[in-house]
Amino acid sequence: MAKKLFRTGLIGYPLHHSLSPILHGAMYSSMGIEGEYRLFQIAPSPSGESYLLDLLKQVRTGELYGLNVTIPFKNKIIKYLDGLTQLSEEIGAVNTIYRENNRLMGDNTDVDGFITDVKKVADKPIERALVLGAGGAARAVVYGLLKNKSNILISSRRLEQSSSLAENMRSVLGVKDDQIIAISYSVEEIAYCCSQLDLIVNATPVGMTPDISSSPWLPGVPFPKHAMVYDLIYNPAETKLTSDAKEEGLVAYTGMGMLIEQAALAFERWTGRKPSREIVTQIIKESQWH
Ligand code: NAP
Repeated sequence: MAKKLFRTGLIGYPLHHSLSPILHGAMYSSMGIEGEYRLFQIAPSPSGESYLLDLLKQVRTGELYGLNVTIPFKNKIIKYLDGLTQLSEEIGAVNTIYRENNRLMGDNTDVDGFITDVKKVADKPIERALVLGAGGAARAVVYGLLKNKSNILISSRRLEQSSSLAENMRSVLGVKDDQIIAISYSVEEIAYCCSQLDLIVNATPVGMTPDISSSPWLPGVPFPKHAMVYDLIYNPAETKLTSDAKEEGLVAYTGMGMLIEQAALAFERWTGRKPSREIVTQIIKESQWH
């Protein structure tokens, strides 16, 4: 009898630039699994919804082992699922769908993907962090840092967006008001607040290909001396932010480690097996992508 192909994939729109097939392909080959990871681009239309329902049915029946979820479905998918992990319920977003006891479940591996990678590279506990941006990725970052007892300043160009994220996290996690504070995205306020930071996270798309000469770090604000910079952007592999920070003597990383970690955690959900992050990183480095 022919061996069953391990089929998974990603739903979202648009998807042409996704690296996930390369990442999951690297995991399959490193684990000796014969698998297929496909991009299921779902246009925002009535036919898109029936395509989505059909894919979910394939997870229920086991034709698909699972699905990753990206923009714009991370919240929208929730109403179609039978249950959520506590983390995805608290964060209100799903990036991994799997089947458990015939139930269609949603999980979120972005939080642990970020925290695991940051802990891997940080040389000290993160007591004070500044997060730039207040969208979906910032939410995962803030949630993970708060769970790890960090104090957070969050700054986005629309103050109401960061204030609302801060307020929501206070009520979801029950943290003290001053454990997360929204500040304006201005030279004065960031310069005033940032001297004692351990970590700066870029959770905006500023600096991402093709806009590689831009940085979210406002000109005129000195980098805090002892902070580590973590830019969630993974394309390019070095951003203007990380290169400027390194020039000032800071340690700085882009987001490939997080991307690999969140993919590996989804893979573990589906297979119960743990791929070697080192082998996957090596395969990605050797691939044409890098
Ligand atoms: P998002 O939900 O669209 O949020 C982006 C945030 O950045 C918003 O607060 C947005 O403010 C702000 N922003 C956008 N353009 C800006 C500009 N020119 N100046 C200042 N602020 C700006 O996006 P996301 O899903 O959170 O993703 C953010 C970044 O993280 C992307 O680069 C993405 O590739 C990266 N990411 C990486 C990983 C990884 O595994 N490494 C995972 C997830 C995301 P407005 O709402 O006002 O536009």
